[in-house]
Amino acid sequence: MTRVYNFNPGPAVLPLSVLETAQRELLDYKGNGISIMEMSHRSAQFEEINREAESLVLENAGLAAADYRVLFLQGGASLQFSMIPMNLLPSGATADYIITGSFAEKAYQEAVKLGSIHVAASTKASNHSIIPRQEELQFSENPAYVHITTNNTIYGTQWPYIPDCGSAFLVADMSSDILSRELELSRFDLIYAGAQKNMGPAGVTVLIIRKSMLEQASENLPSAMLSYKIHAENDSLYNTPCTFGIYIVRLVMQWVKEMGGVKALGALNRQKAALIYDVIDNSGGFYRGHAAMVARSEMNITFRLPGAELENKFVQEAPKAGMIGLKGHRSVGGIRASIYNAMPLEGCQALASFMQEFARRNG
Ligand code: PMP
Repeated sequence: MTRVYNFNPGPAVLPLSVLETAQRELLDYKGNGISIMEMSHRSAQFEEINREAESLVLENAGLAAADYRVLFLQGGASLQFSMIPMNLLPSGATADYIITGSFAEKAYQEAVKLGSIHVAASTKASNHSIIPRQEELQFSENPAYVHITTNNTIYGTQWPYIPDCGSAFLVADMSSDILSRELELSRFDLIYAGAQKNMGPAGVTVLIIRKSMLEQASENLPSAMLSYKIHAENDSLYNTPCTFGIYIVRLVMQWVKEMGGVKALGALNRQKAALIYDVIDNSGGFYRGHAAMVARSEMNITFRLPGAELENKFVQEAPKAGMIGLKGHRSVGGIRASIYNAMPLEGCQALASFMQEFARRNG
């Protein structure tokens, strides 16, 4: 077996030990004689997995079960772009959006179809290479909530601080940096993430919501499937959920705990990112980072080389050195290295060495 270093932005690298456990349990889950995939979502075994996954998410997030609920939903983070305003933007109220990248823009585009939306800041003019400072945020009078994207997967920027938005609820798309750094998550009222980067496989979306916010969610929605309250009342089992995905989320959450939690992973992630940024900063201009220094992401590192030809060459040669998934998104170009929690330090060391050697040969 040859495993490569997988720098894909999502679906992305998973911890090897999680894949091995899933493989071991695939044909016969704990003596039940069937696989998780064949098991009823109403079975006691699955309900236990579901409950454990929920409590491990909260434990790793450092949030109290008395204050927050976890829901496992489908439709990707993208469906949350609609479900959030449907559930939490009452008619007549305004929600504030901060546009720091493509997904923040998409969240905004969906929200404007459903209610009154105010843009509190946008970084579009810089091609989303920066994050606005607190004093640049211009909130509306009394927003129902403020929506931010804590890590911008395509542009490689990350909020270095949690914005203060007064008494308004704070809602965050954390798809690409959830549980990757120490952040005071209790300052957020709603957090959501497609699982396929830091939490598990594609097909399950993790949503963490403060109970007092959940209480205010609309009960007048065109479908029960769109209702946070219905999903919460049914412990995410209103319909058939992504059972295998939730099972893997539980394994990944156990792995996070074993690794020393977000504190230890955060320190490791800083070290991993620094290896690559150091090569960029010491390359004499051969590599040019897209993100402004203060806004640099520890999860997605975006950079350019001198010309598209060299960038193509880089992407083509990397797999020969055991590294895949490095082509940047077309809206930024160049290279993107996604180094989520499950990317080992060795993967970042390998990439840093490859970059140095590539620059020597082509600089
Ligand atoms: N938000 C962010 C920050 C993302 O990176 C992505 C996916 N790359 C999405 C939302 C969309 O997620 P999904 O594909 O699960 O709908």
